[in-house]
Amino acid sequence: MKKEIGIIGYPLGHTMSPTIHESAFNKLELDMKFNIWETKPENLEQAINNLRNNNILGSCVTLPHKFKVINFLDELDETAVEMKAVNWIVNNDGKLVGHNTDWEGFTKSLDFINYNIQNKISLILGAGGSAKAVCMSLLKGDAKKIYVYNRTKANSTNLVENFSKHKSRIHIIEKNNLEDPKFLNDIDMIINTTSLGMTGGPNPSISPINTDIINKNALCYDLVYSPSITPFLSGAKKNNIKYLGGLSMLVFQAALGFKLTTKLDPPIENMLKSVGIES
Ligand code: NDP
Repeated sequence: MKKEIGIIGYPLGHTMSPTIHESAFNKLELDMKFNIWETKPENLEQAINNLRNNNILGSCVTLPHKFKVINFLDELDETAVEMKAVNWIVNNDGKLVGHNTDWEGFTKSLDFINYNIQNKISLILGAGGSAKAVCMSLLKGDAKKIYVYNRTKANSTNLVENFSKHKSRIHIIEKNNLEDPKFLNDIDMIINTTSLGMTGGPNPSISPINTDIINKNALCYDLVYSPSITPFLSGAKKNNIKYLGGLSMLVFQAALGFKLTTKLDPPIENMLKSVGIES
């Protein structure tokens, strides 16, 4: 029987995952199928149990299920435990193991442009699931300092508490810091992890920060990948500031999941090319 992988999330209308994985199946001449398992929260348990089928190697997990899915798994890897979030499930002969490849996808996207996190000062905008992945990546990469700003302060507090072992390196900031050029001047990298600027999201035309007053040598990184140039990145471009969109992270987290599920080395160049990124 054909081996299968897929994606579980809701909604999944514009997912790029099939394109990325099918490019890998084609390159490696694998007779495999990629499924879009659009799953409402009330059907999550059933969708996860379906993964125990022996023709299914595993599945990517996306919004809004990255946390709740943990309840239905048999085991978690070390980073999924630390982050309390899962974005890939591997079916090991009926035993479902949760992994998190988002943080490493973020690290690899920076490696890809030869950007070294070590000793850098970063500002994370947002404190949801992807902010946690970014935080994990920055901590593992020996970042010097991480500032976090989020609309809802309680969520920034949760994020920082999640990494309480590293509390000397993570600090919550207030909204007025985002308008203070002196504060912003020390920041090497600004990462938008909010859904501001996302097509189909609540505020597609808004940048999370005024790019006219930030350090011109900073890197502006937007995790949002649709559109490829978000309002935040368009502001960076206008100010001649280096920028990176979220598409390469999406591919790298997918490639790591491909390896976990198929046990094969992912053809990363083809996977990047499938979404228009030349390596
Ligand atoms: P979450 O729902 O976990 O977090 C959303 C974040 O956005 C929260 O911090 C929330 O703040 C903030 N936010 C939402 N609306 C507003 C608003 N109107 N004003 C200010 N802040 C707002 O989502 P994720 O972290 O999982 O995903 C966030 C974005 O990152 C999405 O666009 C997603 O597509 C992208 N992403 C990209 C990946 C990639 O591989 N490139 C991987 C994962 C995510 P509050 O706490 O106040 O609600």
